[in-house]
Amino acid sequence: MNAPPLAFLEAPSPNFDARTAPPDILVLHYTGMKTGPEALDRLRDPDAKVSSHYMVEEDGRIFRLVPEERRAWHAGVSYWKGERNINGVSIGIEIVNPGHQFGYRPFPDAQVAAVIALLADIRSRWQIGDERIVGHSDVAPERKDDPGELFPWKRLAEAGHGLWVEAAPAPGAPLAEGEESAAVFALQAGFTRLGYDLPPSGRFDAATKAVVTAFQRHWRQERVDGIADGQTRAQLIALLRLAG
Ligand SMILES: [Zn+2]
Repeated sequence: MNAPPLAFLEAPSPNFDARTAPPDILVLHYTGMKTGPEALDRLRDPDAKVSSHYMVEEDGRIFRLVPEERRAWHAGVSYWKGERNINGVSIGIEIVNPGHQFGYRPFPDAQVAAVIALLADIRSRWQIGDERIVGHSDVAPERKDDPGELFPWKRLAEAGHGLWVEAAPAPGAPLAEGEESAAVFALQAGFTRLGYDLPPSGRFDAATKAVVTAFQRHWRQERVDGIADGQTRAQLIALLRLAG
């Protein structure tokens, strides 16, 4: 049975241009501003030069800002699975939340339900694999924290959207900034295979710490400290098995 068509509130933004290819990546953001209306104004302000395709309010209302067949300006300098022109090949969804700067708080059920319905709707039109549904922090780990460690990726996956896995408890020596070893090289290779921009060097540097932190915000939300403990590494390996 098909779900009823989604109701969109039209809120056109002038901040878009032509796509280079059909979208095959979904990037989820939080707005990171004090209120939803303030964020919507900014996403439609020609001087701000930022936008997204959709914005989802805390009460579940969905605003449509840029047509899916156009390129919205939401990701900035970013990378996933070999792709650097993320805006050109992605659909961006802004999810209203004040974010880490203005009082980060849980995403209400009505909002999460709307995001899930929106993902189903978008994926009925475009071929977008589960391993290509990511957060802004995944595609720009050194610059971005959103949508953050309170975002319920697990619930999205239970509804059929995105990768999720629960690895068995895995104690093991933690890897942290400053370390240089074959284990660090293997860790970086795993992150690269999952999609992150982290050419393996064997040195646990600041870029590696940023990727570990981004990974934890998405897939190990109980521990966001940039240290690759045994459980973080087990989660990564389990995800790679799942992603095939
Ligand atoms: Zn963002």
